[in-house]
Amino acid sequence: MKTLWNNLKFAWQYAKDQKWMMIQYIISSIITIIISLVIPILSAKIIILFTNNKFYQLIFMAFIIFLIENIRNIVSYFTNYCSHYIYRETFTKIQTDLGKSILKLENKIIDNNSSGVFIQRLTNDTDRLADIFNVLNVYLTRIIIDIGIFCAIFIIHKMVFFYLIIMIILLYLLENKRVKKYVEKDKVFREKKEKVSGFVGEIIRGIRDIKMLNAENSFVDELHSKVKDLNKIRYDMLDSNRKYRLGSSFMMDLNDLVLIVLLVYLIENSSLEIASALIIHNYSFRITSIINYVGELLDKVKDFNLSATRIFAILDSDEYKKEQFGNKHLNQVHGDFSFENVEFSYGKEKILKDVSFQIHANETVAFVGKSGAGKSTIFSLLCKMYNIDAGKIMIDGIDIRELDRESIRSNITIISQNPYIFNVSIRDNFRLVKPSLTDAEMIHACKVACLDTFVESLPEKYDTIIGEGGVNLSGGQKQRLAIARALVQKTEIILFDEATSALDNETQSSIQKAIENMKHEYTILIIAHRLSTIINSDRILFLDDGKIESEGTHCELLTKSNKYRSLYESELKK
Ligand code: ADP
Repeated sequence: MKTLWNNLKFAWQYAKDQKWMMIQYIISSIITIIISLVIPILSAKIIILFTNNKFYQLIFMAFIIFLIENIRNIVSYFTNYCSHYIYRETFTKIQTDLGKSILKLENKIIDNNSSGVFIQRLTNDTDRLADIFNVLNVYLTRIIIDIGIFCAIFIIHKMVFFYLIIMIILLYLLENKRVKKYVEKDKVFREKKEKVSGFVGEIIRGIRDIKMLNAENSFVDELHSKVKDLNKIRYDMLDSNRKYRLGSSFMMDLNDLVLIVLLVYLIENSSLEIASALIIHNYSFRITSIINYVGELLDKVKDFNLSATRIFAILDSDEYKKEQFGNKHLNQVHGDFSFENVEFSYGKEKILKDVSFQIHANETVAFVGKSGAGKSTIFSLLCKMYNIDAGKIMIDGIDIRELDRESIRSNITIISQNPYIFNVSIRDNFRLVKPSLTDAEMIHACKVACLDTFVESLPEKYDTIIGEGGVNLSGGQKQRLAIARALVQKTEIILFDEATSALDNETQSSIQKAIENMKHEYTILIIAHRLSTIINSDRILFLDDGKIESEGTHCELLTKSNKYRSLYESELKK
């Protein structure tokens, strides 16, 4: 109960801006309750008038009921309006807040969870959280109306009332057992659902590679087994529901039978009039519906509890840690930075063991080493994508842990091996990183990145949509767009992570030229497969076994590092 209360308080944080709408919603629900209680009383009068052959009064009463029903329809229209409005506003707020939190999560958390975990919570769970006030209102309204009718039966005949109370208790016990079973299974169901939606995400992302690898069948088999597993749990959930419902339906039918016997007995003993018996019988289905409502409400409340806990875990728990930044702000990064005895591991294995080096502003430095040596990891750490285990990373003499997000992320750009190009127009790809961008700046950046001729050849030029539903870019074009995107950001430190690996020789030499042009204006770090592309760097750092093995110019390394020399020679032989 405490969890429910806490979760309701948590949900209220998102709904409280709709306080006035909520008050109107409750008032209109109260009016609905009153009308819904008046109508059965008038209907009961109709039965009495029928049995007494008072037809003129009966028609008048029917007309009154018609008027009141119409008032109820109008109130119900307004109630629905309030409910949809509150839902829309609350849902938007929760989803935005959760989306923000997901973007702040530590990268290790993102690496260790499937995308389904976040997608499901962002879509399904937020929906249940936002809907809770409507659910409470709707079900409590229905239950109060039924209780009202129940009270009327108490006034008509106490013995019938007590009989119905016993029936309700029995049905409630059965319903409560069903809900408990259902909720246990629902938890497992949702975890599996996250896995399925994560896997579907993988398929969509990797669809080209799956086709190329001719692996459609094995992916379909895997999907089939996951979906089958998921649906089995769903089937089990519904199966236990079905079985319990079979029991409760039997109880309800039995109630109908016993009630009629009881009513006949009471009429025979002259303790109940026929008209009253008809009224009780007319509304006896409400007695059983009250239990259905209570059951459904319990289902929804438990669903809500589960969803709120899952959302809350992401918003505020140690399990889903957020990236931490300091308070120091650097308006203009100069571009000096250093690693001092840095140690780092993604999991158990140490990737960087004792890495120390210093980069001066406006230097162009290359990182070389075998694949898996930790070069890209150094770039990620410099952008504070992960927290280091030991040592220090300094930017312009300040520990990276003390700097705020803005100082780090808006002053360093990584151009990766497979840059992510957003599924929007080329112009918007630029605007998303710099909203105040002018056309001249954008065109200039594309010129430097050798992309302008290609963009001009597109039918919609800079307004061409990239990706799904638009133009697909080649690996080289993507990288050039990413380079241009980095150029408009005007960040001081640019990291090229094997960025020229997917380019043809001609484009690559243009990019090389672009890098040459940027040299001495930006601090540039390059990871390159082909040593030929970085021979002219100011310095080369050779990374081996999680440490900087040696550093110097290309010529210096050839003489002082055997490992570097053999790497270079092996490349010459290719
Ligand atoms: P390089 O750029 O030198 O090829 P990386 O820095 O990409 O090397 O990777 C270094 C090691 O860290 C590799 O063994 C790689 O498998 C591992 N690694 C890289 N990224 C992750 C990650 N996100 N989670 C776990 N391990 C990772």
